[in-house]
Amino acid sequence: MIEFNVSKSRYIRAVQCLKMYWMDRVKPQEFDNSVLDEAVLENGNDVGELALSIFPDISKVAFETDKQIMINQTKQFIDNKSKYIAEASFSYMGRFLSVDILEIYEDGVVINEVKSSTSVKDVYIDDVAYQSYILNLLGMNVRKANVIILNSEYTRQGNLDLSKLFSINDVTEQAYSRHSKVEELLDFLSQDLDLEKEPEINIAEHCFSPYPCGYFGYCTKHLPEDNIFTIRNLNRKNKLMMYHSGIYSFDDVINSKEIYAKLRPVIKDQLQEKFVIDKKQIARFLANFYYPIYYLDFETVQYAIPPYDGMKPYQQMPFQYSLHIEQEDGTVEHKEYLAKDGFDCRKELAENLINDIPRQSCSLAYNMAFEKGIIADLAYQYPQHYTALMDIYNNMVDLMVPFKNHWYYDKAMQGSYSIKYVLPALFPEDDAMNYNNLEGVRKGGEAMAAFKNIPLLSEEEKQTVRKQLLEYCKLDTYAMVKIMNKLREIV
Ligand code: SF4
Repeated sequence: MIEFNVSKSRYIRAVQCLKMYWMDRVKPQEFDNSVLDEAVLENGNDVGELALSIFPDISKVAFETDKQIMINQTKQFIDNKSKYIAEASFSYMGRFLSVDILEIYEDGVVINEVKSSTSVKDVYIDDVAYQSYILNLLGMNVRKANVIILNSEYTRQGNLDLSKLFSINDVTEQAYSRHSKVEELLDFLSQDLDLEKEPEINIAEHCFSPYPCGYFGYCTKHLPEDNIFTIRNLNRKNKLMMYHSGIYSFDDVINSKEIYAKLRPVIKDQLQEKFVIDKKQIARFLANFYYPIYYLDFETVQYAIPPYDGMKPYQQMPFQYSLHIEQEDGTVEHKEYLAKDGFDCRKELAENLINDIPRQSCSLAYNMAFEKGIIADLAYQYPQHYTALMDIYNNMVDLMVPFKNHWYYDKAMQGSYSIKYVLPALFPEDDAMNYNNLEGVRKGGEAMAAFKNIPLLSEEEKQTVRKQLLEYCKLDTYAMVKIMNKLREIV
């Protein structure tokens, strides 16, 4: 067997797509980093660290770019009779792996692969299949292979109960059943893959799943800018079906009469780059409102490990809201709430909210399913405020409706009805309506990351970030006021 260098993550990428593996080796500069989700990586670190606490007296191999140092350290721990080793590292003929948590017994070892997910995905089985295969080659008896994930049903009460927060799943049989596949692929990668010749692999489901591929732009560079993969509101299966039938551009879709006839009107609007105004529908929609109108927007944060009582893994926790209040005479007032860091702010936020929005008021959100979900969670968590919160819930209207239904559509919206696309379409010249002109925080994901990071900052830095968060959230509701005015002008 020829020696070559492959790691667990490279193997997993080769399973997803051989060309992805080849690109990593030959043209890594073509990789588009925007597919990487920083929040997922961060959650993975937090969960991985906490999972170590399940195992007493665990020895941890420190990360080193020189893998041999990690392998040597692992050997030392084994020689010293460590029973549990984190990042236990091995190599066989250039095939490298680090086991998240290895348990060592007289008659063999147990692999524990820790994931920050709440379900056991198929790709995790490939991961432990690779690990158990290599450990077998090194002469170890892998008695068991586990995937440790978070239990989405766990609700924190008091101290974290690790036995309930984590769910340990035995995947030994599935992992062993894939050993021949591991062997075949590793052999192919080491002996047959021609690094001089780009593999001819077509676009397919593997470009999106299990992980979005950063080479998608490279692999679709033959397509026109307005191509079928930029169509919104059309599912991936249909896009791939079109692609494999030779339908690439918007014109190709329009000219494929049978396919085009079956598309929903909102998709046809995008393809034809139509400008649509349905004044009757907009007027009917506007008749739903009564004054004063409360324009509401929340910012939320998600923690893989629930930090406070009553929270589940990844539950959305609101930490901020902005509220513009519009009177019938056109005057507008602004109120807001932004939690101090380091405490469970949900009760304080809920109480501020019910003070700011009187009963039976007309409230309005953009994509209200999100805001309503937050309010329902708060109502469930604080039964003493249930009635007041559900009053807001029940009197909420969604400003997204006219755009989602294309009662107003402009090609500048690029098929999207997200407020981030609607705003520049409605106010192309207005700099105050442009999120890109904000400092520091310009998107929901950035607001979440900024709030999470606040406890690590100096007092001065905290003030700067808090100001950025307030500006960002304020623009969300101010934008809604402006959109509403625009709709009124239209009718
Ligand atoms: S975009 Fe698709 S075909 Fe291209 S490398 Fe990625 S997964 Fe493979």
